[in-house]
Amino acid sequence: MTITIAILIDLLLILFSLKYAWWYPRKDMKKTRIMMYHMISGQLESTKKSGLRVSPDMFERHLKYFKNNGWKFIKMSELQLYENDNKVVAITFDDGYLDNYTNAFPLLKKYNACATLYLVIDRHKNDWSVKKNPKHNTGVLANEEKLSDDHIKEMLDSGVFELGGHTITHPFLPNTSTDDKQYEMIECKNILETTFNSKVSSFAYPFGIYNDDDVEIVKNSSYESAVTTDEGVADLDLPFELKRIKASGKDNFFAFKLRVQKGFRGFI
Ligand SMILES: [Zn+2]
Repeated sequence: MTITIAILIDLLLILFSLKYAWWYPRKDMKKTRIMMYHMISGQLESTKKSGLRVSPDMFERHLKYFKNNGWKFIKMSELQLYENDNKVVAITFDDGYLDNYTNAFPLLKKYNACATLYLVIDRHKNDWSVKKNPKHNTGVLANEEKLSDDHIKEMLDSGVFELGGHTITHPFLPNTSTDDKQYEMIECKNILETTFNSKVSSFAYPFGIYNDDDVEIVKNSSYESAVTTDEGVADLDLPFELKRIKASGKDNFFAFKLRVQKGFRGFI
């Protein structure tokens, strides 16, 4: 009986260790952390839990953690300026969901923080997840309310947000011709800069999927940086393949802190 309990405890410890990789060394605190968020909202009752939805309460805990522990919030256009500083964090949002305005914006203001929003131009009623996987045809993404141009103007005018490019239609790049890729990546920058009269210097690969040709297109398009969805602490020597730290709606606060320190949470 005692042996069975001991084995059970060992198994739980192994599972805990694999899930959280708590022994993994902390990354240099002089390396900028680029946080990746999508929605700041509660979970939907009709679907299973989504990592893309971080609750407003949890997002506030994240901001409070950064603020209380001496982290400096920067926008992506400021990456090089603070390259060698201790504890620098860039908060990023992908796609352009309405809750970035209703839920995230007030909290960012409350904590004197800032963020970069990678905005899709044709975002309304656009179910881009189907382009990556036709089975993702639930309609949830299409029905998710997105930011209007007026919301975005207010967010930019406040000085809290800056914009980054995230293509026009959110294509699945491996299925996209070179001409269309160039149009999606370059023209989205022009449209954003013209519509919002605001400089766009950073790009996010749709679905985080990219190859060497895509990197070349971004490099040659007068962007200064590009982010991926590869998990980890960013290496600024590779400014067009920057890793980000995933903020997941499935995580508890302990997991969030591990991610900030080590760049990822664990192995399972
Ligand atoms: Zn996206």
